[in-house]
Amino acid sequence: MSTFDSLNPADGSVLASFPAYDDVEVAAAVARAREAAPWWAGLGFEGRKARLLAFKRRIVAGLDELARLMQEETGKPVDDSRLEVMAAVEHVDWAARNAHPVLRKTSVRPGLLGANLAASVEHVPLGVVGVIGPWNYPVFTPMGSIAYALAAGNSVVFKPSEYSTAVGLWIVDAFATAVPELPVLQAVTGLGATGSALCRAGVNKLAFTGSTATGKKVMAACAETLTPVVIEAGGKDAAIIAADADIRAAAQDVAFGAWGNAGQTCIGMERAYVEAPVFEAFVAELRRIAAGVTVGAGPQDRMGPLTMPSQPDTVLRHIRAALDDGGRAVVGGEDSVRPPFVSPVILLDVPEDSAAVREETFGPTLTVTRVDSLEEAVSKSNAGVYGLGSAVYSRNLRTAETVARRLRAGMTSINSVMSFALVPALPFGGTGDSGFGRIHGADGLREFTRPHSVARQRFPLPVPLLSFQRKPWHVKALARAVRLVHGRR
Ligand code: NAD
Repeated sequence: MSTFDSLNPADGSVLASFPAYDDVEVAAAVARAREAAPWWAGLGFEGRKARLLAFKRRIVAGLDELARLMQEETGKPVDDSRLEVMAAVEHVDWAARNAHPVLRKTSVRPGLLGANLAASVEHVPLGVVGVIGPWNYPVFTPMGSIAYALAAGNSVVFKPSEYSTAVGLWIVDAFATAVPELPVLQAVTGLGATGSALCRAGVNKLAFTGSTATGKKVMAACAETLTPVVIEAGGKDAAIIAADADIRAAAQDVAFGAWGNAGQTCIGMERAYVEAPVFEAFVAELRRIAAGVTVGAGPQDRMGPLTMPSQPDTVLRHIRAALDDGGRAVVGGEDSVRPPFVSPVILLDVPEDSAAVREETFGPTLTVTRVDSLEEAVSKSNAGVYGLGSAVYSRNLRTAETVARRLRAGMTSINSVMSFALVPALPFGGTGDSGFGRIHGADGLREFTRPHSVARQRFPLPVPLLSFQRKPWHVKALARAVRLVHGRR
């Protein structure tokens, strides 16, 4: 088996080497998962819940160890890593406890034509789910698929990002201590080719989180075998700041949303649209905050390195595009890019058609744009190809909710940033180039099941509808009943 290295992004040192699974090895892992799946499904909701909660406790016990590993492998500050693990733990807990109430067999009303039937629907597991993850939130993000797919009764084959393989293996090992019997959750390590092999290995569903470009490749590969997909892809999230917002609080939020995790957050803030009366105050507040954000690999630093060696080039390209297109940098600029580190950048007056406004940067840059109305803010926020997260700030809750409802996004936080991700019951996902399908919440559980509908005859109808015994007068009698019930109201 060939191998690849995982590097510490802060200094480029090799942390470990891992096997790169090829097509045959991926197929073998899926075959093992296929054997484990009936046992896992057969444990029932209660059996799986007990084991998933044991998995959760194992993660909590290893919280600090896992957070250190995350810092080493991705460069994320250790407290941010801890917070990420805690958020993931909440999701494991929610999925474990809610799989039964959400997915269990439920009766539904049979309706007029089915008056003699008992009707029910049950959400049953799909079998084997493939999960392909990114590196930016190497625990929280894949867990949104893994925990929900497992709780729904599937076995899982997980391809962690090549930039966070050790973290991925830690998760799989933790699960194996809670569920030692069979390989219900396995990892296949490797580069893109391993992910591609997983798409073609006959899994029953593929949950992908990563860039839009790779998402398209995943979908194309899965289309060959009609394998259904969940695509959680990129974003270019915007914050809207109304004139009546608490400017200090909004600036704190937007700053963290833009620069936290060195800007490598799918639901991070890359654009802000600010009503004219508070524009200057908002920018001043952001500048004050930026001055206090330390960048480096030290224990006190609030922003670490960019994880992928190629990413600083994209960030630099976007900063240059913003400046070439007529924008100006009031904090940072091209000099902010000192690979592997990039310090916060605030860009003003950048035209909406600039690459810096249209494309996902995935670095700590923020364009801040003055708008004359919330109407204009909504239309500019909605103008791009992405539709992932968003944020609205206003002291008037009715205004905030009206604006939120008009945003073409999968998720919106009001007077808070990225907060929807912390609520396990809320479905998470996007629209447009941000993908489709949902993880988290009841929708996230159902995503990894197929509904099985059953209609049971309780007694024969005097009017045999679905039978060659039916006579013309049966249909006439039925039409009278339908006119009575549906013709008037
Ligand atoms: P990426 O697309 O480069 O890689 C994601 C995963 O896909 C990796 O495991 C990679 O090995 C694998 N892969 C690469 N080529 C493949 C192929 N041809 N077939 C199958 N798998 C393949 O993305 P990334 O750089 O790891 O992550 C950053 C991106 O992820 C950003 O665009 C970010 O917005 C997005 N993201 C989205 C969400 C969300 O929930 N919507 C969450 C986190 C990150």
